[in-house]
Amino acid sequence: MRIDLHTHTRPHSPCSAIDPADLIKEARWVGLDGICVTEHQCRWSFQEIEDLARKGGIRIFQGNEITTNQGDILVFGYDKDVRGVVTIQDLRREVKEAGGLMIAAHPFRGFLLFGITQLLMSVEQACQRKVFQYVDGVEILNCKLTDPENEMAGQVAERLGLLPVAGSDAHRLDEIGRCVTIFNKEIGSEQELIEELRAGRFHTEFRR
Ligand SMILES: [Zn+2]
Ligand SMILES: [Zn+2]
Repeated sequence: MRIDLHTHTRPHSPCSAIDPADLIKEARWVGLDGICVTEHQCRWSFQEIEDLARKGGIRIFQGNEITTNQGDILVFGYDKDVRGVVTIQDLRREVKEAGGLMIAAHPFRGFLLFGITQLLMSVEQACQRKVFQYVDGVEILNCKLTDPENEMAGQVAERLGLLPVAGSDAHRLDEIGRCVTIFNKEIGSEQELIEELRAGRFHTEFRR
């Protein structure tokens, strides 16, 4: 089952240009079986998810992208809107209590921009970043990042034994489905999505 785990729509994410109805159409067009909306700091209501799912054809899941003092975190199974920046420790505690899952989103975004490669940051050094102590997984493919940035995330995930997931971080229609997480089985609920992620029963793909 092919799912894009990281997408933004408006108006819930004002930075996105994607209308939810178009999200579904485009997702089907590019061969996805499911889509996960991960708005910034907010969740859709149950009714909104139901209404969108009724438009048909693919499964709709939802997570949440939360800004912490250690960067953006994709959270699954945590049913709360969070306002402002939270500490990664507080988020970890709450998500753990809720039985949810945390993924470090685009952990090396801006890596090239800030010239860190010139400093020859090693994978060992990259692994020291505090964020990795508090997450279950790492986004190793994100279509907004450069290849070296994604590759570094992949190496860190492997070294630290963290779940290596993919998500497009789509803010525009043409970005939907570029980074896909492909699950071994059909997934029917957010709980199942979390179980399959936790068990690592998936692989990832980047559509160029
Ligand atoms: Zn982000
Ligand atoms: Zn995002």
